[in-house]
Amino acid sequence: MKSFYQKETDDVIKELGSSVDGLTSSEVTKRQEQYGLNELLEGERASAFQIFLDQFKDLIVIILIIAALISGATGDFESSIVIIVVLIINAILGTSQTLNAQRSVDSLKQLSVPKVKVVRDGVKQEIDSTHVTVGDIVDFEAGDMIAADARILEASSLQVNESALTGESHAVDKFVDVVADEVVVGDQTNMVFTSSQVTYGKGRAVVTSIGQETEIGKISALLQGASSGKSPLQRSIDDFSKNLSIGIIILCIVVFGLNFAVSHNFASAAMFAIALAVAAVPEALASIITIVESLGSQKLAQENAIMKDINSVETLGSVSIIASDKTGTLTQNKMTVNDVYLNETLINPDKIDLSDRAGQLLMHTMVLANDSFINEDQKVGDPTEIALIELGRKYGIIEQEARANYTRISELPFDSVRKFMSTLQVIEGEKLMLTKGATDELLKQTSHILINGQVRELTQEDTVNILEQNNAFAEEGLRVLGYAYRTFEGDELSLEDEKGLTFVGLTSMIDPPREESKDAVHKAIKAGIKPIMITGDHVVTARSIARKIGIFSEGDMVIDGLTLEAMSDEELARDLEKISVYARVAPEHKIRIVNAWQAKGKIVGMSGDGVNDAPALKQADIGIAMGITGSEVSKDASDMILTDDNFATIVKAVTIGRNLFANIKNAIKYLLTGNSSAIIVVILTTLMAFFDSKFVVPFLAIQLLFINLVTDSLPAIAIGTEAGTDAVLDEAPRDPKEPILTKATFTSVVIEAIIIAVAVMAGYLLGIQADHGIEVVGKASYATTYAFLILCLGRLFHGFSCRSELPLSKIGVFSNKNTVYAFLVGVALIALIIFVPAVSGMFGVMPLDFGQILTILVLAFLPTLLIQSIKMIRYSGK
Ligand code: ATP
Repeated sequence: MKSFYQKETDDVIKELGSSVDGLTSSEVTKRQEQYGLNELLEGERASAFQIFLDQFKDLIVIILIIAALISGATGDFESSIVIIVVLIINAILGTSQTLNAQRSVDSLKQLSVPKVKVVRDGVKQEIDSTHVTVGDIVDFEAGDMIAADARILEASSLQVNESALTGESHAVDKFVDVVADEVVVGDQTNMVFTSSQVTYGKGRAVVTSIGQETEIGKISALLQGASSGKSPLQRSIDDFSKNLSIGIIILCIVVFGLNFAVSHNFASAAMFAIALAVAAVPEALASIITIVESLGSQKLAQENAIMKDINSVETLGSVSIIASDKTGTLTQNKMTVNDVYLNETLINPDKIDLSDRAGQLLMHTMVLANDSFINEDQKVGDPTEIALIELGRKYGIIEQEARANYTRISELPFDSVRKFMSTLQVIEGEKLMLTKGATDELLKQTSHILINGQVRELTQEDTVNILEQNNAFAEEGLRVLGYAYRTFEGDELSLEDEKGLTFVGLTSMIDPPREESKDAVHKAIKAGIKPIMITGDHVVTARSIARKIGIFSEGDMVIDGLTLEAMSDEELARDLEKISVYARVAPEHKIRIVNAWQAKGKIVGMSGDGVNDAPALKQADIGIAMGITGSEVSKDASDMILTDDNFATIVKAVTIGRNLFANIKNAIKYLLTGNSSAIIVVILTTLMAFFDSKFVVPFLAIQLLFINLVTDSLPAIAIGTEAGTDAVLDEAPRDPKEPILTKATFTSVVIEAIIIAVAVMAGYLLGIQADHGIEVVGKASYATTYAFLILCLGRLFHGFSCRSELPLSKIGVFSNKNTVYAFLVGVALIALIIFVPAVSGMFGVMPLDFGQILTILVLAFLPTLLIQSIKMIRYSGK
């Protein structure tokens, strides 16, 4: 049996039950039920049960199981059971956190599903790629991703990169012609395949297979296996925790050995060692980062920035260069034609004389050498072209009708290197090549000029006049297009034919800067970030807009693509800081700019929308694609997608990134401080126990479990949700090489840990006094009760302190509701332990009178009071 590529297009369409008008909506519904969604299967995900089991692989959990066994062996079954129950609760919480994180990644993925243009019921429309089905007629052009395997029906200068499938990195030409022989995928030149990129030209095809049935689906059933990749920050924290754990285990063995040597009591020695291990290992560290980063990426999505890879969130905060496109990102991309220049005169766009040859040609070129269209309310295509169509409509010219009347027999699509496009149309029996594009580029191919119906040779003076007019528009920040034409004999255009043109006229368009751009640029500069503009537009237009929004200030340099090309790497490195605008650049220049900045150790965020921007987007530390106007290829290559195409969103994202990093740092600081204070207490009491056996173990295993669950995780997560402010923009970007735990952080961890440990020890010693004379029954003692409760409460208070470097008087005690909730939950549970005798018994807590409770409260609150006072002194007047 012949394959689709060996058959004529008509036969393929018939066989697939489709038509040139595409499928009908009822047929689409039927097929979607039959074939399912157009998706590639993801790698096997761990089941919820598997995730649950994984929670027990943790070192601490294993130690606690040992503690439960020892408790059981010494006859204390109650403790064993409580430990096991709490471990199971802990595992359930861990599982739900992991599942939540997965869900949030999935929902973010959903937001970045590519769009596809299809023809259904004879109407061209845009749909999610997942809804494409077999028999759909799909249209694509440079910049699109192919969403399904399809047989090509029409192709014009079509080139496709199939490297995902074939490994071949060069784009291949595609045609309509039947391939007679049986050939491998790479040679099926009339087919396009899922996950290929259209790099040039355009085409139409009928879908032959979707989802898992496509070539790429067949190669690998597990193509997009759920990424378990850890971020650099997670890896460094993992390493840190691992080293710390090893150190702690060694310390535990030493403590156990010494203790056993002195006391000869195995169970007590083991409990001291276990207390140390459980108190010291910061097992919540790694999961805190995952949770905070996943919350952060949800927040980014709300602010219109979708992080494709959650791990890039932390890089965002160190961005020091933002290289942005102009059109649409810094400007509104809402274009309207402002002036028309025809027959050497400037006229109002409403006053084009369609009976004049130049007016006629201008209108034809605007509407016909144009791929965009308006469908009821939907404007599909390039805003530059939409502006031209809208002007045409003012004259009663509907683009679809005009295009049906004047057949387009060949075309040379727009590309951002040539900067113009041409189509070959039959107009009133005459074959004309209509060209529109960047005036300066167009003039290089122009030999004649049309004035008042007469064509004559273009003189030097004409060129000067046209360029003067062009510059006058550009000075005002207007976008200028030039128009030209030529008569043509053949039926097929090639790039060599774009010469010997006759100049017709110019149009200028307003594309006002976005209102937020100026403020966002100002914020970026304040935050030590250099914003630069990289645009395909004219130098003068670019500078004018850059000046309006503050990217360009006096003394800065504006260079164009040609100048950049002529510069050596050394020259570029020398001038780099001064250049704030790159104009008339081609996409390949962008990668050079990224490289030059990266060579200076800068972290570069770079925006791009075109197909040719992909390499620069990949090279940038944060590649930023445009959600609305960006090509699918650019989205595929980027790390972040802006759903509003707005420069201000980049600055917002960086702010969120910086705050997120600060939150992670604060959460880690909170965890390490708490753990360190517990370590100090355990070590001190172990040493004291050498001399006198009345110094009991300060924390029971079950108590440590409570500390880990309640006073570790809850406040740490709450700290991770700190809203953050623009205050982070007052600092210079973080050096990405700088570790998250700097010397300064370590110092404050140690100081704060000592302060908390002193309070806990004070309570412990008071407890020892209270224990004196009473008979200690079983495991419960006042010493342990005091130490445990003061540490718990003390840490809950400390949770407020760790929210910021600044004192609470500056940020407000109640400004982060989550910290308040975490505190209240902790306090409620502690109250349960104190006031419900059955629970007190379980946790080895002695009955307390009012005075004792007050003592505990005061001792728990003192460290935070002291730490806050220090902060207030340090930040007073700032
Ligand atoms: P940016 O890179 O900031 O988005 P841009 O959109 O102006 O800027 P390009 O799309 O590469 O960059 O356009 C470069 C030039 O090509 C424009 O200045 C304009 O003269 C011309 N041009 C843009 N769009 C079209 C089009 N659809 N048809 C013909 N010429 C165009």
